[in-house]
Amino acid sequence: YEAKNKGVTIALHTPAMDQGRIERLALLADLRVALTSDQSQFVLHYQPKLDLRTGQVTGAEALVRWNHPTRGTIAPDVFIPLAESTGLIEQITPLVLDAALRECAGWDEDLTVAVNLSARNLADSSLPERVASALSRFGVPAHRLILEITESSVMGDPEQTMPVLHALRNLGTCLSLDDFGTGYSSLSYLQRLPVGEVKIDRSFVLGLFGEDDASSVALIRGITGLAATLGLRTVAEGIEDQAVLDVLLGLGCDTGQGYHLSRPLAAPAFRQWIAARNHSAYPALRLLGEAR
Ligand code: C2E
Ligand code: MG
Ligand code: MG
Ligand code: MG
Repeated sequence: YEAKNKGVTIALHTPAMDQGRIERLALLADLRVALTSDQSQFVLHYQPKLDLRTGQVTGAEALVRWNHPTRGTIAPDVFIPLAESTGLIEQITPLVLDAALRECAGWDEDLTVAVNLSARNLADSSLPERVASALSRFGVPAHRLILEITESSVMGDPEQTMPVLHALRNLGTCLSLDDFGTGYSSLSYLQRLPVGEVKIDRSFVLGLFGEDDASSVALIRGITGLAATLGLRTVAEGIEDQAVLDVLLGLGCDTGQGYHLSRPLAAPAFRQWIAARNHSAYPALRLLGEAR
């Protein structure tokens, strides 16, 4: 059996797979170097979140990018999974949290900033203390920090993560359930989580005018209804055009994010974007006006 298994293993190692593995290892080595000797390679972009009814900006989600010295910008979908599987995410999250809070402290208004957390962060019982210390270091009140979690990051080890979630909530931060609808999400389970917000996954929003439009509408209606019952805010991700925005408004969705509203912006561009909105004649009405 040993020999046979070994044979199979070797047979499966095609050159293409080896190439992928080598790439991954090279990227991982560079990731370690960046984290230990040049953290300025990690840059946050901010994507505005808008109140869909009034058009007002409520805050922004901080999204990390890696400016690699030779490969250019690397998207989080590429290096975050690598950081999660190797434990390096434990170094990336504090870096992101600090940068996001430092930036948020400089915004004029009472805007929120949202930071994405991974399963490993939620399994770390020292996370609430670290978050509390970062908030006080940058002088940001807890209610301006939103922490985005996913169902799978909680469900990995609920006994470990639930106390962490409650401690974060007790600090006064808002927990947001990201990519909602793509995981297990039983209704009773949503009720048990100390979240204040659910983010409707982009796939349902993109599906609104696709082949699965009827089921996407039903799903979104179900989520907004459930959220209203539980007193949770809803955020739709991936709003790419006005037609989708109109449908979401009709389905009772509160808040939204997407390329139609704004792409994620570098920190200075986000500040300019906010200022430009504030100086236009009827910033709050613009979106509703467009929607009609
Ligand atoms: P996410 O948290 O669900 O973030 C939303 C993603 O959707 C972002 O991709 C954003 O740029 C993209 N997006 C926004 N509007 C639209 C739209 O209208 N259409 C389409 N097609 N896409 C849109 P991004 O920045 O590439 O991030 C991908 C994922 O990487 C994030 O998904 C999040 O899970 C993860 N991520 C990003 N930053 C961090 C971080 O600091 N820590 C951790 N743990 N994960 C992060
Ligand atoms: Mg997110
Ligand atoms: Mg999301
Ligand atoms: Mg997503």
